[in-house]
Amino acid sequence: MAARDRYSRKLECSKCGRSGFAEVSEDDDPRRTSPGFAIDLMPPGFSTERPSGDPARHMIRCRCGNVFAFKQKTHYPPGGEPA
Ligand SMILES: [Zn+2]
Repeated sequence: MAARDRYSRKLECSKCGRSGFAEVSEDDDPRRTSPGFAIDLMPPGFSTERPSGDPARHMIRCRCGNVFAFKQKTHYPPGGEPA
């Protein structure tokens, strides 16, 4: 089976506060070493800076110039450094 798992995830820029929902799909197969991550629909104001099959390495660019990973392990407070 090579079913694609589809979901939407909220993108939020820690710099300017812009947010939107991206439509994402992944291969729903735990035996794969890579999830085959892909963004099918990017919300307005965001673009792909550096694509990757790993959501933690897929870099998003906001229209304000801020670049961040699609999947973030730490949450940044507005205008601040990670705690
Ligand atoms: Zn921004």
